[in-house]
Amino acid sequence: MTIDTIFSRLAYAADHPRQTALDYMERSGKKAIGCTPIYTPAELVHAAGMHPVGLWGGSPELIHAKRFFPPFMCSIMQAILEYGMDGTYDFLSGIITSAPCDALKNTGQSLRFSTSLKIIGISHPLYRKEDFGIRFLKSEYVKAAAALEEIAGQTISDACLFESIELFNSHRRAMREFDQTAALHTAVVTPSRRHSVMRSALYMDKKEHLELVTELTEQLKKMPPAAADGNKVILTGIQYDGKDLLEILEHNRISVVGDDLSQETRQYAVDCPLDRPDPIQCLARQWSHMCPDSVVFDFDRNARGRRLVELARERGADGIIFAGTKFCEPEEYDYVMVKKFLEANGMPLLHIEVDQQTRENQAIHTRIQAFTEMLP
Ligand code: SF4
Repeated sequence: MTIDTIFSRLAYAADHPRQTALDYMERSGKKAIGCTPIYTPAELVHAAGMHPVGLWGGSPELIHAKRFFPPFMCSIMQAILEYGMDGTYDFLSGIITSAPCDALKNTGQSLRFSTSLKIIGISHPLYRKEDFGIRFLKSEYVKAAAALEEIAGQTISDACLFESIELFNSHRRAMREFDQTAALHTAVVTPSRRHSVMRSALYMDKKEHLELVTELTEQLKKMPPAAADGNKVILTGIQYDGKDLLEILEHNRISVVGDDLSQETRQYAVDCPLDRPDPIQCLARQWSHMCPDSVVFDFDRNARGRRLVELARERGADGIIFAGTKFCEPEEYDYVMVKKFLEANGMPLLHIEVDQQTRENQAIHTRIQAFTEMLP
């Protein structure tokens, strides 16, 4: 398969999430379960013989969601509720919701109240490294597993769950390798292409995606490194999604050489440790190893800033773009600490506010253009 063919297959999946999931369901005969952001244990869904589908919002016209949410709710949750209420998610046999922020808590409850979808709620503990936190999360996962077994009509055996965890860990390693390799080939891996590789993973069968990404990385490695002209940046935030936003980067000759986005490499940063005889315990322990981000509490307030500076230096980035999701409280709190740390370390930073429902991004274009003029 040529590199262009791989990119087009991944771009199709990234641009047509519902159709991609439906095609796979038809081919495999499997049911599908929606997984809301940010860290839902998709391995449980896979081990139950079903297809996990990432739910990261979109740009529907908000009609039904307005009955439950005020306008100052983050756009990702508004879109998820709208899709739940307008029937877009009717092909799903259930939705797993996590609750690391108030918006997600409300979304799970509103979906439960306003739709006939089966909602499986999970709470991730704030104190994630202590034994009591791990025990609590394990009990949450055990309840979720029981609900998934009921939907699937089959039990989740330890052997199947270990197998699913191993597959997901292999996929995480492949995504990390792609991320590192892509940073050396920005002439080929444009911001849009890079994003397609990350986003398509949310909708495709994990094994199929793993095979495509592995082949893509191998082909890139055979080519001499080729950097695009222009500036290099690291993106951070919840997501940097949308054709328009990606085109703004490309128009301003900006390459993405790494990211710290919840929707992208943060999903793949930490493997599930396979060091316990109980696979659900292993999944619960993964949460305690997660990299700090705005919804993963850490006492070290500079952890995220430090990681960004290290990543930027390792990849030779000229600066960092903080894509703050509008009305996202966790990100707004984190921004203050990240900004102070980056300023103290001389790392250029641009803050922009992104929103899935905004169709006109001219102001962002102007700000990014001005940012590049300040960069070396
Ligand atoms: S973390 Fe932010 S963007 Fe994500 S659901 Fe919560 S408020 Fe929305």
